[in-house]
Amino acid sequence: MLKLLSPLLTATVTLTLTAGSAQPLVIAHRGASGYLPEHTLAAKTLAYEMGADYLEQDVVLTRDDVPVVMHDVQLETTTDVAQRFPDRKRADGHYYALDFTLAEIKQLQAHERTNPKTGKVVFPKRFPLGQSSFKVPTLEEELQLIAGLNKTLGRRVGIYPEIKQAAWHRRQGHDISRIVLPILRRYGYATKQDPCWVQCFEIDENQRIRGELGWKGNLLLLLGSGGKRPDGTPDPWFTPAGLAEAAKTVDGVGPSLHAIVTGTSPADRVVTDFVKHAHAAGLVVHPYTLRADELPKFFASVEDAEEVLFNQAGIDGLFTDFPDLAVRWRSTHLKTTHKSDSR
Ligand code: CA
Repeated sequence: MLKLLSPLLTATVTLTLTAGSAQPLVIAHRGASGYLPEHTLAAKTLAYEMGADYLEQDVVLTRDDVPVVMHDVQLETTTDVAQRFPDRKRADGHYYALDFTLAEIKQLQAHERTNPKTGKVVFPKRFPLGQSSFKVPTLEEELQLIAGLNKTLGRRVGIYPEIKQAAWHRRQGHDISRIVLPILRRYGYATKQDPCWVQCFEIDENQRIRGELGWKGNLLLLLGSGGKRPDGTPDPWFTPAGLAEAAKTVDGVGPSLHAIVTGTSPADRVVTDFVKHAHAAGLVVHPYTLRADELPKFFASVEDAEEVLFNQAGIDGLFTDFPDLAVRWRSTHLKTTHKSDSR
């Protein structure tokens, strides 16, 4: 078994070292979003304290071209925009961050993710709706928070910004990548040795980030769920040839958990060849998203998921809403071979 795996591990090791990591990374997905409203500075601070290696930022633009940290280009799922600015929705019924200045967005309260149609929270066991006070941070406010914590706590926790809907932003007349990348450089994130991964779902934009915009740091291509296109045909980026093509531009890929494991229950699950193929192409694999309160049916528990993903599939990092659980699991259960080979 070990013999079979060793070339694979060697490949992984070289790549994770390039990214400055000794073991699989724990990436706090929107912060410790299992415990506090996503993408608030409170959720990032908690994730930091829980021992995450990287904190994720989803980035969208305001009307005055300030990058803010939000998952959706629409404001209504995670803020009280509909109550505060009821007349500012577009004809499609949505309130877009791009239609609001930063000063206006700063008037909003951020809250736990809701379904705007029902007004109900998406994750009922999470932080209660409408309690306490949270704001939408700018990207720079968040980078300053992380730099400050790195100074006071003596760690080197990284950032993981995602350029959201780049093509859509450009169709609206706003070039998000061209605005975000110089900010990252200004805060010291510029090379593959710096603890920063830029991520984007759009291959064209990844190519632009690497080429036209000259990004020299780590870059990850996010892949849509399941390995299938909306019409049901296979997504070519999930094939060995597609991964080799992606490797000309990016350093890693971020598929959903369903690309790594398939099955309808823990009894019949299968670990796919995806990680093997990605490693063969020289790519690291950082799948999304492990949620303790929304486990895929092929996992029996969070611990079971972590065992399969880290030890059996050999992923290089994991996006999770519950970074504390992954950090705890990693400290006790990670295969010794994985640990020692990684240094
Ligand atoms: Ca994201």
